[in-house]
Amino acid sequence: MKTHAKVVVIGGGVVGASVLYHLTKAGWKDVLLIERAELTSGSTWHAAGGMHTVNGDPNVAKLQQYTINLYKELERISGQSCGVHITGGIMLAGTPARVDWLKMAKARGRYLGMDLELISVDEAAKLFPLMEKKHFLGAMYDPIEGHVDPYGVTHAYAKSAQIGGAEIVRQTRVTDLRQRQDGTWDVITEQGDVHAEHVVNAAGLWAREVGRMVGLELPVLAMEHQYLITGDMPELVGKKEQMHCIDFEGEIYIRQERGGMLMGTYERAGVPWSESTTPWDFGQDLLPNDLERIAPSLEVGFEHFPSLGDAGIKKVVNGPFTFAPDGNPLIGPVKGLKNFWVACGVMAGFSQGGGVGLSLAHWMVDGDPGADVWAMDVARYGDWTTLAYTNAKVRENYSRRFSIRFPNEELPAAQPLRTTPIYEKLQAEHAVFGDYCGFEHPLWFAPSAAEATDIVSWRRSNAHPHVAAECLAVQKTAGLLEISNYGKFEVRGPGAAEWLSRVMANRIPKIGRIVLTPMLNDRGKLIGDFTICRVSEDHFFLIGTYAAEQFYLRWFERSLPPSGVSVRPCAVEYVGLSVAGPNSRALLQSLVREDLSSAAFPFMSFRRVDVGMVPTYMGRVSFTGELGFEMWVTTDYQRALYDLLQKAGRDFGLRSFGGRALNSLRIEKSFGTWAREYRPIYGPHEAGLGRFVDLNKPDFIGRTAALDERAKGGALRLVTFTVDASDADALGDEPIWHDGKTVGWVTSGAYGYRIGQSMALGYVPAAIAGADAGFEIEIIGERRKATPHKAAPVDPQGLLMRT
Ligand SMILES: Cc1cc2nc3c(=O)[nH]c(=O)nc-3n(C[C@H](O)[C@H](O)[C@H](O)COP(=O)(O)OP(=O)(O)OC[C@H]3O[C@@H](n4cnc5c(N)ncnc54)[C@H](O)[C@@H]3O)c2cc1C
Repeated sequence: MKTHAKVVVIGGGVVGASVLYHLTKAGWKDVLLIERAELTSGSTWHAAGGMHTVNGDPNVAKLQQYTINLYKELERISGQSCGVHITGGIMLAGTPARVDWLKMAKARGRYLGMDLELISVDEAAKLFPLMEKKHFLGAMYDPIEGHVDPYGVTHAYAKSAQIGGAEIVRQTRVTDLRQRQDGTWDVITEQGDVHAEHVVNAAGLWAREVGRMVGLELPVLAMEHQYLITGDMPELVGKKEQMHCIDFEGEIYIRQERGGMLMGTYERAGVPWSESTTPWDFGQDLLPNDLERIAPSLEVGFEHFPSLGDAGIKKVVNGPFTFAPDGNPLIGPVKGLKNFWVACGVMAGFSQGGGVGLSLAHWMVDGDPGADVWAMDVARYGDWTTLAYTNAKVRENYSRRFSIRFPNEELPAAQPLRTTPIYEKLQAEHAVFGDYCGFEHPLWFAPSAAEATDIVSWRRSNAHPHVAAECLAVQKTAGLLEISNYGKFEVRGPGAAEWLSRVMANRIPKIGRIVLTPMLNDRGKLIGDFTICRVSEDHFFLIGTYAAEQFYLRWFERSLPPSGVSVRPCAVEYVGLSVAGPNSRALLQSLVREDLSSAAFPFMSFRRVDVGMVPTYMGRVSFTGELGFEMWVTTDYQRALYDLLQKAGRDFGLRSFGGRALNSLRIEKSFGTWAREYRPIYGPHEAGLGRFVDLNKPDFIGRTAALDERAKGGALRLVTFTVDASDADALGDEPIWHDGKTVGWVTSGAYGYRIGQSMALGYVPAAIAGADAGFEIEIIGERRKATPHKAAPVDPQGLLMRT
């Protein structure tokens, strides 16, 4: 084994092999994969090998398409068969809600270039004769589904990588990792040490153990998973291979395996495997079968597909594989651990392995994944993902693998976990809470405890009239919103202003002022949107997205100078309340000695203000578009501030409002938000944030690309629409049509209560963004007329915020 390598990839499952191949493809040849046993010795060898393109996140779906198309390339380079069977697939719907889901999945597929087709039950039965029609209401056909040979795929990646210059060492376990002063790594193995510039943790079932070698607790957990193979079936003799089939309500997947059928299930009572440590002596082993546990699913399966029951069970496979709490992979560099990368938690290695390898290799070689991989980024999790949290969420995710998640549906596992001091007070107001990074935050307020629950639906829900009343209060009198779950950072030091000016695209505010700014990557794409508040010469308060806290910190550490600037995340130290609406100033003025008039405390001001006895940082901004104030206090003061505002608010028509109302209010104002309108696939000009990029500054990250974008105009444009909807609003990811063609996609949607119309924000090609008519948005399978707006439908001049 060599003693030096540019990269050591730990783990020779399908994911590690893919990373290795993609590194060589991206030009790094001095790469070494170290495998404890033989290739495929974790989850990979016993996988069912199924693959499909449909995924809840469109960016992940694109990477799945890439993976499936890659197999031909691998076979050509390596000469190793991947055992590809493109049989096509059908997804069966057994309930009206699932039929709606299929319509939406098909619609999303349109702008991803997927060739999905909604078909009737009769048509489905022609394609998949083993089904019993009476259990189903509809189906969707996907021509690009099938299965591969897990051994063949992994070896095809490995051979292709070796042809590209990589080395693979088998039967050698990595036992420890030690980082040198210069950030390089000593990889300690059973056969000696390797000095490597970069290390990739692709250890699959042992990813947690490899993470712990560097003090990292990765949020992954293995679940037992069972599939069975039936005896040979006469129905299959002399026929072309059966399609891949998913029966959502039966919670099973089926495909042909030689003369019989393979049937797997994600059972409700899923069982984790090796909850805290994975044994090193687990090899190419299987777990004992537990047919009892999957009996309810088998019963449904044999009812829905009777000939499988008649064929009897020839073989059962029970094997473990790992999941992150949301079921998506964990990839990327890890904050605080220079040159340490992860590629783990991949639960669908044969649909996703290629995309994971491609993105990670680009990230390592070019410094950027080259695609929007936020949904897979390891930085989406923070310190709330303890072992027990991960355990609860992974079990839930596994048991719901084939369940619908409605847009107004909160998942109960691991909740409530993180609460602010006013949690019980909000409960007493009948708040319906949502979970955000483990944080409870109010979504809306019900009139009584009995009504404080969401009845899940694709359509406007039971919350609709109550959210309407909340929006009306913000419009007419005053609303009170808890804003604690924002990301917050304190930036201090003599070099703080200079550093911020380099990292952020807008100018840096004067003392006592606020500036909104995008943060760009080197390619000039959006990787954050921040509110910068300047407390003093050397002290700034930054407000952004809490879910991206680790992502931001990882980005900041790239450019922080060794001294002169400190960045401290303080999201949980400062909690917040916001008051918005025409009466908000009078309300606050009744509690504050300073003059809050526009002359004395104009829009975008920020300063220390005592509200009653409570010391706050007060900013004159509001995401609602109304006159508004945000107050940040340390947690010990939040209850007092809340009580004070509620009491004084009685005279000013104050009413609590939640996240649902805020979403509606901000869409009416054409205000975008991170992970929806603002993502690394869009430039600031495209996103309508051009005015927040100060191109007069001589230097900031992404400036050259931003100049170029402005000169060329950018390919896309964010447009605000009102939509002729009936009882359902756009949610996000619906296709936007223009003159009969799919041209773009929705990023957010909601009912706009101030304007009394359904609304959507979405991206379309810049060339047609100026068109006045011809747009439609597809909502649950129906194309609805969409009217573009050149400016925000509510208060386009922004006068209300400035009054
Ligand atoms: C029953 C079952 C059915 C499945 N069906 C499908 C399916 O139909 N479609 C699909 O896409 N996916 C399926 N999967 C999931 C699929 O198996 C995984 O997505 C995939 O195998 C993950 O690959 P990996 O490389 O991340 O991990 P692993 O396969 O676990 O590979 C990790 C490798 O790292 C090595 N390693 C670990 N630690 C060290 C160390 N310290 N030193 C050296 N080497 C180390 C291990 O020996 C192992 O070979 C199924 C899984 C199971 C269990």
